Amino acid sequence: ERYDKGLAKSRKGFGAKINALLANFRHVDEDFFDDLEETLIEADVGYETAMNISDELRDEVKLRNAKKKSDVSDAIIERLVNLYEESGKGEDNALHFAKQGPTVFLFVGVNGVGKTTTIGKLAHRYKEEGKKVLLAAGDTFRAGAIEQLAEWGRRVGVDVVKKPEQSDPAAVVYDAVVKAKQENYDILLVDTAGRLQNKVNLMKELDKIKRVITREIPDAPHEVLLALDATTGQNALTQAKQFKEVTDVTGIVLTKLDGTARGGIVLAIRNELKLPVKLVGLGEQMDDLRDFDPQEFVIGLFK
Ligand code: GDP
Repeated sequence: ERYDKGLAKSRKGFGAKINALLANFRHVDEDFFDDLEETLIEADVGYETAMNISDELRDEVKLRNAKKKSDVSDAIIERLVNLYEESGKGEDNALHFAKQGPTVFLFVGVNGVGKTTTIGKLAHRYKEEGKKVLLAAGDTFRAGAIEQLAEWGRRVGVDVVKKPEQSDPAAVVYDAVVKAKQENYDILLVDTAGRLQNKVNLMKELDKIKRVITREIPDAPHEVLLALDATTGQNALTQAKQFKEVTDVTGIVLTKLDGTARGGIVLAIRNELKLPVKLVGLGEQMDDLRDFDPQEFVIGLFK
């Protein structure tokens, strides 16, 4: 399974360290919790979240009177899954679609995090499902971004709306939304430029793009997905905080999870940002994209 392969590094890193901790422990004592905290922090879970997990586990172990390795390891797995789920209680973690007419997903994130690739992968997914898919090359700023999206369109076999480099991205998006409506597309995936260097401009640009979309399709965009590169660890968290200030993000696409041994960043994002991880990238190929399932993820780390 690709999910399995995609988590191989984290399993060898993060997962193996926790397993080693469990294999070597004699008593669940303060040393054990110190080591656990250190392992969690090394895995990019983040200081605060690591302390949180460790404290709750301490209570849980006491409560259950857990002494056996298997009990403690079960408690850890449960804690990690629960932490993810509890931080988003009552939230709907699935992707949202239009009840009627075209669904619009807007993608934001800085250069190089894997936005364009994710759009290509999703286009492939929906095309396979028999949907009519349209892409909008709204990153008119980065050299090569338009051509890269067009290439994905050709590879997957879906249509792409584009204009020359440096065009107004809102104009590209306008054309795409109108086309999506008139020609009955099921889903429109919009690429954007993510220049965090100038937050005010980025905010204005994204606001304008959103206004153009909403004017044509009142309940759209149905998702604003922020792409974050898992290999950048705590930096990804900082980026996410900045993007939250610029626009209303509805979910995270965590890319390149296959490229890190520290998969704990998923938990940090959930706990510190209160944003759901909706999709994970597990490689560069078309089908290396999964809906995120916390249970599958945590169990995948430790087996
Ligand atoms: P953008 O600038 O945000 O649009 O980023 P791109 O989509 O161009 O991706 C930047 C690089 O990351 C490319 O070389 C992609 O192949 C690679 N990439 C994207 N997603 C993944 C992933 O999930 N895993 C791996 N290993 N590489 C990825």
